Amino acid sequence: MAFGTPIALPLAHQMARILLIEDEEKMARALVRVLREEGHGVEVAADGRIGLSRALDDGFDLLVVDWMLPGRSGIQVVRGLRAADVHTPALMLTARGQVEDRVEGLDAGADDYLPKPFALQELLARVRALTRRPQGAPAETATVRVGDVALDPVRHEVRRGDERIELTAKEFALLAALMQSPGRVFSRSVLLDAVWGVPGEVSTSVVEHYVSYLRKKLDREGEPSHIRTVRGIGYTFEPPRGPA
Ligand code: CA
Repeated sequence: MAFGTPIALPLAHQMARILLIEDEEKMARALVRVLREEGHGVEVAADGRIGLSRALDDGFDLLVVDWMLPGRSGIQVVRGLRAADVHTPALMLTARGQVEDRVEGLDAGADDYLPKPFALQELLARVRALTRRPQGAPAETATVRVGDVALDPVRHEVRRGDERIELTAKEFALLAALMQSPGRVFSRSVLLDAVWGVPGEVSTSVVEHYVSYLRKKLDREGEPSHIRTVRGIGYTFEPPRGPA
């Protein structure tokens, strides 16, 4: 039983040299911390122009690029790199979540796209996927399956059987955290930290609300829930048991 401890990494992964191009100081600090904890080397550029020149000069394994930046936008940075025939994988961060924006980012040559706000665990999952594959190779789909529920962190899609389930970003992040270790019991505060990432600022009751939203979307009438409440502790995700 591992509740109350940080969420364990499911896979061994490569350490990477990462260039983070992000102008928001608080966000940059949080990302540097979590990426360094993973063992990655991280350099930060707070401006698109500087970021582009650093990325052109140096052999980074991965770029994490915010969309809205002073100097050059994230899109311009990625376009500039691809135009210079530099194919370092790029993960784009953005508060703009519309489909057109996503398409624009991918068209510019970004390899993956993560809408803000996101769970740090989700960022790490994408970083793992992008640092694992050889440069220039198509994105790997690291779909997680538990029972008939499939979660694709790259496409940001959830399906139950053939049915596509529409989730908000937070619902998705919560489900991703739970599905990462089926059967593991997660305390509310561990989930709060993994999904909201701001301990103390949000009450753990938000976790209960989001669990109920997820159950409404995932569960079927008259069947037991995928998300089991463990009294006094928290929640676990597992294929529903019980009478067929
Ligand atoms: Ca920004």
